[in-house]
Amino acid sequence: MPDGCGSFIGITSGLVFKIADNATMLSQHPRLLDVLELEVVKDKRNNLQALFFYILFNFIVCHEYAHLIEDHDGALTINRSAVPQEIQIVGGGNLKSQIEECVADQTATLMVLKNLFEDDGARWLPHLAYKSGFANDGPMLLIWLFVVAVTSFFLLRFRPSRLTLSALIEATHPHPAMRIGRIMDAVVSWCAQVRPGLEACIPHAQFVLLVHATVAALNHDINRYLEQESFWTSRDGDAYRTRLRAGLGDYYRRSSVD
Ligand SMILES: [Zn+2]
Repeated sequence: MPDGCGSFIGITSGLVFKIADNATMLSQHPRLLDVLELEVVKDKRNNLQALFFYILFNFIVCHEYAHLIEDHDGALTINRSAVPQEIQIVGGGNLKSQIEECVADQTATLMVLKNLFEDDGARWLPHLAYKSGFANDGPMLLIWLFVVAVTSFFLLRFRPSRLTLSALIEATHPHPAMRIGRIMDAVVSWCAQVRPGLEACIPHAQFVLLVHATVAALNHDINRYLEQESFWTSRDGDAYRTRLRAGLGDYYRRSSVD
């Protein structure tokens, strides 16, 4: 860190409580466990909860770290706290701020997956003591648990209002559905490079099922979420997605020549 900079990653107890609540709700929701094909032995459920919390906390720290190292929005010269920016919905955003959020998400994904797979999941998987489903495929289970945990973080920003193009463009962060989709792309790309073959075992239908089960596990209105999903097939939804993708392409092109 350059001399004289007061930058830090501030995570308040409020955010810790929120992600702890998420971890509890995810680990106890029968429908979500069903979609995960995960029958957790009762006295090991706390271990699943701990793993969700670990992924969430790890992701948030790495996401904030990415903002710092990329110097997003002057992050190196201002004090930055994870809470106001990441989970409070305030106006004043634009496509630039949303592109920076996507970049931080992508960097955090690569970091957290590296941590999770460091020992092939040996630190976590034996302690879940699951009975069925992905029992013979621990790496796949880790991928899905990562997707569920990160989805639950993005959903802290979910509001059941009607989507409009102008509201989307003025937000500080992309809509949760947009971020989740990009995370899935990053996961597939990471698998293709680091765990060749694993990416072929990530069916889109399973991904959609997991996201919807996560929405339900957090007690959000699933019908409202589905309504918002239908927006992405509209002309405005397509226009927004195209602009965000183009902006991201420009960002990475600029980064590669800097
Ligand atoms: Zn951020």
